[in-house]
Amino acid sequence: MLTCNMPIPYQTIQLLDDITITVKRIDQVHPTISGNKWFKLKYNLIEAKRLGYSQLLSFGGAYSNHIHALAHAATSFGFDSIGIIRGAELADKPLNSTLTTAQSLGMRLEFVSRTDYRRKHTPEFLTELQARYPNAYIIPEGGTNTLAVKGCEEILSEQDCQGFDAIVCAVGTGGTFAGLINASHRNQRLLGFSALKGDFLINDIQQWTEGDKQNWTLYSEDKFGGYGKFNDELLTFIADIKARYALPLEPIYTGKAFYRLLAMIEQGDFASASKILFIHTGGLQAFNGST
Ligand SMILES: *Cc1c(COP(=O)(O)O)cnc(C)c1O
Repeated sequence: MLTCNMPIPYQTIQLLDDITITVKRIDQVHPTISGNKWFKLKYNLIEAKRLGYSQLLSFGGAYSNHIHALAHAATSFGFDSIGIIRGAELADKPLNSTLTTAQSLGMRLEFVSRTDYRRKHTPEFLTELQARYPNAYIIPEGGTNTLAVKGCEEILSEQDCQGFDAIVCAVGTGGTFAGLINASHRNQRLLGFSALKGDFLINDIQQWTEGDKQNWTLYSEDKFGGYGKFNDELLTFIADIKARYALPLEPIYTGKAFYRLLAMIEQGDFASASKILFIHTGGLQAFNGST
């Protein structure tokens, strides 16, 4: 059974103006199924078992934290797993550490062209895939669906909804952020820092949240050039935060979100004595040793 390493640790960082950032280390929720991906998978695994599927199938890029978590979850929960990986050219190259781990856990990797990968949400593509893998429970890219959002609502405890003025997290598909919004108290301000450029996710997030909740803002990644892009300034920042606070971050999600949060605090966007909860969503698996 999928169990959680409760209690999840908190780490508090005291800043200027008495502002505190408390980091909820959900990256430590489980030894191998890290961070928000654990919460996103939880109800999907239960549903897949209930419906009698023997395989889990999902999609991701070569560094996907979701694919990594899925491979671990599948073995520990008694499923076979299939990863549809973006980039046909990767099939002939040595696997990176994310994919090596996934494969060693028994995941069957299928590499598809970028063009085919873009079709992954279309009914035709999914029907064809389901016909090829009739025993597979198909989970969307990044793991986001209604059951994932439900799982992410459990990231926040009652105490988290009472004791903090603001809740901050990194955003990919928006599923995690939607769960946090649903669980939050109306007086709390929620800030989501997207790893992607553009505000197209706002519609998705609205779909997954209770419509009348308007206590949230999504910030587009317009600082470092978009998804997966980073520079020396960000890497230096991440190294500095690690040295100063023993807080490990990575440059795709959590590092960018933490950088933007500190910049907003410096600009005076938060009142003195604000209590901010930063959700550490994980993602360290792809960057061990490189930052
Ligand atoms: C997947 C991931 C996210 C994004 O989660 P979404 O629910 O897709 O928005 C954020 N941070 C980390 C570390 C991730 O791996």
